[in-house]
Amino acid sequence: MSVDLVVVGSGFFGLTIAERAASELGLKVVVIDRRNHIGGNAYSAAEPETGIEVHQYGAHLFHTSNKPVWEYAQKFTRFTGYQHRVYTNHGGEVYPLPINLGTINQFFRAAYSPDEARALIAEQASEFSSGDAGNLEEKAISLIGRPLYDAFIRDYTAKQWQTDPRNLPAEVIARLPVRYNYDNRYFNDPFEGLPVDGYTAWIERMADHPNIEVRLGTDYFDEDQEINKAATVGNVPVVYTGPVDRYFDYQGGELSWRTLDFEQEVLPVGDFQGIPVMNYADTSVPYTRIHEFRHFHPERNYPTDKTVIMREYSRFATRDDEPYYPINTAEDRESLLTYRGLQSGESGVLFGGRLGTYKYLDMHMAIGSALTMFENKLKPLFSARAIK
Ligand code: FAD
Ligand code: UDP
Repeated sequence: MSVDLVVVGSGFFGLTIAERAASELGLKVVVIDRRNHIGGNAYSAAEPETGIEVHQYGAHLFHTSNKPVWEYAQKFTRFTGYQHRVYTNHGGEVYPLPINLGTINQFFRAAYSPDEARALIAEQASEFSSGDAGNLEEKAISLIGRPLYDAFIRDYTAKQWQTDPRNLPAEVIARLPVRYNYDNRYFNDPFEGLPVDGYTAWIERMADHPNIEVRLGTDYFDEDQEINKAATVGNVPVVYTGPVDRYFDYQGGELSWRTLDFEQEVLPVGDFQGIPVMNYADTSVPYTRIHEFRHFHPERNYPTDKTVIMREYSRFATRDDEPYYPINTAEDRESLLTYRGLQSGESGVLFGGRLGTYKYLDMHMAIGSALTMFENKLKPLFSARAIK
């Protein structure tokens, strides 16, 4: 086998490694993926009836404050000026997210100024101090007070995580900004946009190099195919981006994940909900949100009489489901320590990406950490070999 580097997984992590290794070091790289398409969870495809680009594994919004990552991404795609905004349906009424002055004034039927709203929320939030908050519920109440928490966070979070918010870590909610002005941009990052010709075109350009071979439908643990674990470890450097517990045959225990079920529908209307994402805050609705994909690309010529929507449901993953969000219970953290120990003893294999590190990584984080691994681990490894 004439290969310098094997990459397991063709998501953003694996492809960033492969692209750098091929372009900068001239290495021959084989990327394998057990799925029948490239791109991991960022994969998207046109829905056949309407031509509307659908993100197959849930809506993917690219945003970052990491300039080198933004510049690296521009090598493969241009970005639209898309800025993400989300609304939420609570009690049959629609409110803007993240919680901002518009949400607060609509909820309290008031016209508070920023200072008045701040004073009101400070009073309602005084039940818990932010520093002492021991779980998601306490943290959220310390940030926005109980009435807003009960309306917009408690039931949505319970639906999304299938866990009482009092048993979830406080960090989960720290992602969500609270603003005392009318700014309802979902993300704070300075760089944001969607790939002009879609995620798959972007991803395919990353793999489009004469030194990169991609083999799809190829599972690393299937010994009937050439690039498998037994044949490669110790013989050729490997970057593995699949689930870490699977790699070690679950000997440190099974890590827990949430998965999502998607219900996609083509509807005979030009516009179903007027916005790309509508959250459903209440338990009376079983799904957490509805995505309407046409709104991600208002610049495209999509049909005006049809639209594609996707309802999103959340549940615990079994071993056969797609692992989406690491749950990170105390037990998981213990297992992870075992796996970290096993990883460091696995010579010639580097573990990366969302599944390989059991960390929730956004796309820009997956790309950023792959660039760092390339600079700090792979380049020194291959330059030491060249000297030998
Ligand atoms: P993945 O994309 O998961 O790729 C790993 C690949 O490894 C997969 O293709 C898998 O098939 C392959 N693999 C696994 N095991 C094997 C094996 N045994 N043999 C061969 N191949 C194997 N990020 C954002 O920035 N913005 C968003 O809005 C956003 N929304 C998201 C929504 C959802 C529902 C999810 C799940 C993620 C979202 N993300 C978002 C995160 C984004 O998908 C990840 O950052 C990105 O996919 C990470 O890339 P990765 O390469 O680490 O992993
Ligand atoms: N959240 C909520 N209500 C909402 C939106 C978010 O309670 O309408 C909480 C929920 O606990 C969620 C967290 O905020 O897990 C982070 O939200 P985000 O939109 O970042 O979640 P993701 O898009 O990653 O699913």
